[in-house]
Amino acid sequence: MQFALTAKLLINMHDLNNERAEEIRRVPLIFKTKDGYRLISEAVAVSGVMLKHWHAVYLARRAEELGVNLCPLCRRGEAIRVPPPDAVKMEWLHTDENTYKKYIDCLSKGTEEDLIKLCVGEDAHGFLRTEPTLRRESLIKFSWLLPIYLEGIEMPPFRVVQHTRNIREVPEEPEELRRMQMPYPRSYADGVYGFASLCDLELVGTAFTCRRQVIDDNEKKKRQRAILEAFIPMLTGAFGASLARSLPAAKPLEVVAIVSKEAKIGFPAPVHPMYEDYFQLNERLFRSFAKEFNVDLLICTYGIGQSKKEDKVEVKVVNDPAEAIVTAIEYLGLNKV
Ligand SMILES: [Zn+2]
Repeated sequence: MQFALTAKLLINMHDLNNERAEEIRRVPLIFKTKDGYRLISEAVAVSGVMLKHWHAVYLARRAEELGVNLCPLCRRGEAIRVPPPDAVKMEWLHTDENTYKKYIDCLSKGTEEDLIKLCVGEDAHGFLRTEPTLRRESLIKFSWLLPIYLEGIEMPPFRVVQHTRNIREVPEEPEELRRMQMPYPRSYADGVYGFASLCDLELVGTAFTCRRQVIDDNEKKKRQRAILEAFIPMLTGAFGASLARSLPAAKPLEVVAIVSKEAKIGFPAPVHPMYEDYFQLNERLFRSFAKEFNVDLLICTYGIGQSKKEDKVEVKVVNDPAEAIVTAIEYLGLNKV
């Protein structure tokens, strides 16, 4: 079972890339234009770390509802998978002694198998433990969220806006309160952005070290369902920094979810939607994949493409962005777990 996703959104007034205070991510990008290739030396972009973080947060929330196993840190939305055991104190975890001891034991001595059983976060998003060394590659991969070149429009720059906090009455002392209402700058940007993601659903609950599934089938299906549902909030720009005051004014333009029930081998990474012909390329690429490995394929698409069915490959146009994911979940038979 495999899954891939591409999404293209118009996003206005976003502060998505403020991953660290005062740092604005600007990256060089090469675009293909009608006159050939063009280098934009400073395009406003958002790293895949940001997308991965928010996917992990939504995954934990949904997993909890479905009764899927979660470790104490993932349960509260912290994206620190397998932290050093001596850095984790019971008071900080806000848990009872028994849960704390079991967790620390698993962190310090657990095998990959133990950690997968413990938590869907470590299972799906991978981890790296340094002492003793143990690493699990993430089953979910994200591209950067990159701006798309619009013919005839200059690449939108970012701008800095000064905000202030308003305190009704500022006393003479302490000085900290006076400082709290000082102006603080934040950067904002606009643009048409795209990202691509890939998830090896086949390996959910399967340890790379012993090469076998270590959770039961029902838990595996619930984990797969939660993983796919966690993408839904992301389709309308609910990811990134400063969402409290700059939830992006987003409009999903094109969303494409690609799934296969029978594919055991991992999908190729989908062509990023920053390229104009990405949909046609992906359709051909995944069709060839399905033919070579003799597996089924469903491409659920919003905003681009046409419905058609040929042998084991179907392209299905859906009516809204979330329906692309919902249809994929139903097709995989995960909606009834
Ligand atoms: Zn976890």
